[in-house]
Amino acid sequence: MERVLITGAAGFLGSHLCDRFIAEGFKVEAMDNLITGSLKNIAHLQGHPHFNFRRNDVTEFIEIPGEIDHVLHFASPASPIDYLKIPIQTLKVGSLGVHNCLGLAKHKGARITIASTSEVYGDPEVHPQHEEYFGHVNAIGPRGVYDEAKRFQESITMAYHRYHGLETRIVRIFNTYGPRMRLNDGRALPAFIGQALRGEDLTVFGDGSQTRSFCYVDDLIEGIFRLHFSEETRPVNIGNPDEITIGDFAEEIIALTGTKQKVVYQELPENDPKHRRPDITRANEILGWEPSVGRAEGLKRTYAYFRTLTPEELHKSEHKDFTAFKKN
Ligand code: UDP
Repeated sequence: MERVLITGAAGFLGSHLCDRFIAEGFKVEAMDNLITGSLKNIAHLQGHPHFNFRRNDVTEFIEIPGEIDHVLHFASPASPIDYLKIPIQTLKVGSLGVHNCLGLAKHKGARITIASTSEVYGDPEVHPQHEEYFGHVNAIGPRGVYDEAKRFQESITMAYHRYHGLETRIVRIFNTYGPRMRLNDGRALPAFIGQALRGEDLTVFGDGSQTRSFCYVDDLIEGIFRLHFSEETRPVNIGNPDEITIGDFAEEIIALTGTKQKVVYQELPENDPKHRRPDITRANEILGWEPSVGRAEGLKRTYAYFRTLTPEELHKSEHKDFTAFKKN
């Protein structure tokens, strides 16, 4: 039986990856420091004979006895509000964290996939974004801690590939949504659904004309799984090219939830990308992958999940308190 290490395993994407690898017959070694992740996301896997959770910070030296055949480095804050609040940890997990993962993969002779992001393109001047585009990033802006950490992560991964011959894969993940997103992580979809469920107005930043392209989590996981087991070592965009303005997206959430609340406009955060849509030609040609869940269906499934949250979880609307981690 092959064994896989998944970092960020208690997070939104990490927990879905755990499910997929367990379902495919792997032994999963799940790691998370629980800064932004939640044990609730993997509670259903606890006690499974092929699942083991360790509460570890991947930015510190990792020691795992026995063989590891695959590593998926998915630990990182991923929401603009999170990385504003924990900028140092965001930089560390994308630099020290990936270095530890690469070192472990090299030592164990494992194949590694690292989670990169559409943020490597910054506020893009090319539309849609294809993998050959170098990006337009403000290194010292508020989003720079995430964008540059992820760009460094890609660089060091390619260096390990070229210098050590390590089997590496890089997935550039575009906006993804689905069950287990953190309600209070500050991102558009959980923010809007949370607001609708609490009877609050929906906060659209700027005039709502900025665009995003939202991919349902099952499609994303399928793309990552295919990429990991492919021979492609160049970065691959995985996302859904179905683009929508944030204003229209808020209206869709209003229709979906049937809320009587309205949209209110707030200031646009600094360096908020104006447009984002993946060019998925490479994923399509090399992995035979394209998304199959449309937004109407994906939103329905996601809303069903958010409706299972307890009133206490629903009203814990303030953003996560990270003060306990400030020492880092
Ligand atoms: N946004 C918004 N209201 C919110 C949260 C986000 O209008 O309550 C906007 C945000 O400014 C951005 C888009 O929605 O233009 C997507 O933001 P998100 O934080 O989900 O992810 P991003 O793609 O910016 O990383």
